[in-house]
Amino acid sequence: MKIPECDRCLLYAHNPHLICAVHPNGVSTDRCLDFRPDPNAAEEELWTPEGYSFYDGQLIPNKPSRYTKEEQLEILDNHPFFTGVCPQCSYKFDLEEIRFAARNNPPLVHWDCPRCGWIDDSV
Ligand SMILES: [Zn+2]
Repeated sequence: MKIPECDRCLLYAHNPHLICAVHPNGVSTDRCLDFRPDPNAAEEELWTPEGYSFYDGQLIPNKPSRYTKEEQLEILDNHPFFTGVCPQCSYKFDLEEIRFAARNNPPLVHWDCPRCGWIDDSV
């Protein structure tokens, strides 16, 4: 039989007629000795702009916003989180650095532009 681990296993065949290459019919215990964690199946940590979260694959504001839906979409389209550049002066943000900071201290992450002083007020 197939066990929950199979879904995260490198050997899992994703085939209704074949569970995996090593155990075509699955295993009879609830643990598999040949389980190899699939790095690609690991849940990816999704980093989102402050005030937004992913829900059903969509980026949505956490709280009711003072902006209309259209305005929000425009903000998201132009937000440096997506474009990597300041919407005002085209300053290129160091995405690596910002994502690194986001992992270590999420509340401190802002997209304020160090060149023209544009302030991320979308949240
Ligand atoms: Zn700027």
